[in-house]
Amino acid sequence: MTEIVHLPDESLWLAPYAMHATASAGREYPESAHPYRTPFQRDRDRIVHSSAYRRLAHKTQVFTGDRGDYHRTRLTHTLEVSSIARTIGRVLRLNEDLIEALALMHDIGHPPFGHAGEDVLDECAREVGGFNHNEHAVRIVTQLEKRYPDFSGLNLSQEVLSGQRTRVKNTQKPSPQPLLEVQVVDAADSIAYDSHDADDALELGLLEWEELLKVPLWREAAKRVQAHYAALDPMQLRRAVIHQLIEIMVSDLIDTSRSHLAESQIKSSQTAGNHKSRLVAVSQPLQEQMAELEAFLFDRVYRHPTVLAERALAGEALREMFARYSEQPESLPNDWSQRLATEGIPRTVCDYLAGMTDRYALEEHRRHASLVE
Ligand code: MG
Repeated sequence: MTEIVHLPDESLWLAPYAMHATASAGREYPESAHPYRTPFQRDRDRIVHSSAYRRLAHKTQVFTGDRGDYHRTRLTHTLEVSSIARTIGRVLRLNEDLIEALALMHDIGHPPFGHAGEDVLDECAREVGGFNHNEHAVRIVTQLEKRYPDFSGLNLSQEVLSGQRTRVKNTQKPSPQPLLEVQVVDAADSIAYDSHDADDALELGLLEWEELLKVPLWREAAKRVQAHYAALDPMQLRRAVIHQLIEIMVSDLIDTSRSHLAESQIKSSQTAGNHKSRLVAVSQPLQEQMAELEAFLFDRVYRHPTVLAERALAGEALREMFARYSEQPESLPNDWSQRLATEGIPRTVCDYLAGMTDRYALEEHRRHASLVE
């Protein structure tokens, strides 16, 4: 019996420069078409059902869970990125399914304890090329996830894989610009963390409101809110400013990108790569303001003594576990010790530790410590 196909015709609403699912380069292991989901919808679903995605709920974005439950985790950050990116993608008539898949996978390669964990693993795995969360995300979706009987990994579409690969910074050789959908997700990532890291830091008392008012972009957002609402309590004001900040950045990005797209006369998804700079971008003045806010956050939040002290402790725990598993690789769980023959000890141990949530890594470390005593 012939399979009935209920796929909607994307060309009815996508722009010519969008990545159309029908033009996909396909998957490493060919699969027959799904009757009612496009390839990129299937990619999105595979990512949502992966264990690496679920673990994002218990991984640090910037602050650890010991500080209460208000602040963002990697999972809530990921959902904010996805929501912002889809909004932008729909307005620009790009492929929202591809954008969603890219956004939901963009941070799944992060190890426990955020960038502190990444720095430690990078150092531990130095002799085998180090550790990078963006490269690790590719290893997760091509090898480490075991969900399907016919192949390792998630067998994602080439466009999703190459989109993630462009996140790995290679300063050696200049590379073409990625698909516009990839550019949208990168921009949405910055918009999300610029706004929510400031919000989280205020909530946690690491920053004072008056300090943030010295940052021009924040001051502008606060001015716009106060022009509409004369008497907000501090909490209402803070939330309104966060919304306003996102609004300023998303509106500028949409307007600027629209004019870039019109000027470039881009006609197909593939020609996005030929442009000297990214077509999906904020205006120059906003780019400068965002850089100021990011420099401020870097200095005052990510380098805050309390945050650094927490990171140092977490990093030490990871370093000790790396040493212990490297000395006794036979103590790795079965499915991991099977990788030792092909991947070697440092890479296998590194990948195993990278998959842990913050909570699990701390419990494991405590368990190891009690075995030593
Ligand atoms: Mg991110």
